[in-house]
Amino acid sequence: MKVVVVGGSMAGLACAHALFSAGCKQVIVLEKARTLKSAGAGLALDSQTCQALAEWQLHQQLMDSTLPLTIDQNQATESKSKATRVLARDENFNCRAAHWSDLHKLLYDKLPRDTVHWGHEVVSFRQSGDGLGVTVEVKMAQTDQTIEIDGDLLVAADGSMSLIRKHFVPHQHRRYLGYCAWRGVFDYSKNDSPEMVASIKKVYPDLGKCLYFDLAKGSHSVFYELHGKRINWLWYVNQPEPHMQMNSLTAKVDKIAIEKMHEEASETWVPELSALIKATPEPFINVLYDREPLKQFVWGHVVLVGDAAHPTSPHGVRSTNMSIMDASVLGQSIAKWGFDKISTALAEYESIRLPVTSQQVLYSRHLGLLKQGFLFDPPHSFPWFEADADLCEQLLQRNMPFFKSHS
Ligand SMILES: Cc1cc2nc3c(=O)[nH]c(=O)nc-3n(C[C@H](O)[C@H](O)[C@H](O)COP(=O)(O)OP(=O)(O)OC[C@H]3O[C@@H](n4cnc5c(N)ncnc54)[C@H](O)[C@@H]3O)c2cc1C
Repeated sequence: MKVVVVGGSMAGLACAHALFSAGCKQVIVLEKARTLKSAGAGLALDSQTCQALAEWQLHQQLMDSTLPLTIDQNQATESKSKATRVLARDENFNCRAAHWSDLHKLLYDKLPRDTVHWGHEVVSFRQSGDGLGVTVEVKMAQTDQTIEIDGDLLVAADGSMSLIRKHFVPHQHRRYLGYCAWRGVFDYSKNDSPEMVASIKKVYPDLGKCLYFDLAKGSHSVFYELHGKRINWLWYVNQPEPHMQMNSLTAKVDKIAIEKMHEEASETWVPELSALIKATPEPFINVLYDREPLKQFVWGHVVLVGDAAHPTSPHGVRSTNMSIMDASVLGQSIAKWGFDKISTALAEYESIRLPVTSQQVLYSRHLGLLKQGFLFDPPHSFPWFEADADLCEQLLQRNMPFFKSHS
């Protein structure tokens, strides 16, 4: 059985681990980026995902490169007076905070050396007449040549703008969520802002183990600490959809936009949080989209995983968790049924992952609408200071469907 994986980010590399663990001898990952990059920012890994990584012998490296996230706390900030109120707190959150690059490198380093082929962009693919074989056409960045590669199974891990999903579901478009995220990572490892760090830790004493959400009118922010003395933050701002280049998710920002964002941070957040935002070099904007859940993930010997299968909004901290669990379940189904019964294995994968990921995508969308105040009348006005216990409870990650068990 030769498996061709398209995309060498989280879902693709996790699938390679899962397929090797399932006994597959030939797995190649085709990634259009030319090299392993240091990119991205923070993400939260839940306990199921950490367990899957441990099953691929990555437990120790994971512990060494991540910090605990044992608390999920949501609080409201009244921007004028800067008064704050804790709305909901879960002290059994049981997640880990990782930097995207650290996790990506960890997954990459533990694969056999010749697994990932950088600078290999899949430009088209076809299935054989009997549906049992797949051929991909690959453009190689180094030579500009195009080659063909055959496989018995094609795993589409090519992200939210997936070429392979588009082939099967051509008319489904991404949905703009109604807001964008400013984001950045503040690195204090060189200890050049000791007072700022001390003052933020005074106001947010659980930094280092807490996923902090701050909610203001029509807006919310998230921040948490990463391994290596880095603080990851995001700030969601309601606005019309910016004009974007096809396939792009990151909007360009200039000095004026950053200055304006800094001013608004001072107006919106407590001084310690706005100081963190202002001290972060090179903040950037993610334009946020999701898609309606699909009705299938498998077409013959082609299977969708990760963001290619279920692009989601970030509020349920799901995308990387879902990708790794897709890989884990795919590997387990193949190990259970064997390569002779690959169609049964793929059907089982789909039957387990489709309901879980569909509900998680929809709940994550709901969390975003709730926290950005879209669900209230007038809009942007969640009644933070009058909210009752039931409404506050909805803010917590533990209400995500299948949060404790992915299947
Ligand atoms: C560089 C980078 C940095 C990121 N940083 C963060 C972060 O800080 N926090 C966070 O929560 N999420 C981040 N993400 C997104 C996160 O990885 C995903 O949302 C989630 O983990 C699902 O992963 P995925 O592998 O399905 O999709 P993606 O991470 O989007 O990966 C898709 C991969 O497929 C490759 N690809 C696409 N088309 C082709 C093709 N035709 N041929 C070959 N390769 C192709 C892309 O280059 C990419 O590497 C980042 C993604 C990338 C690529």
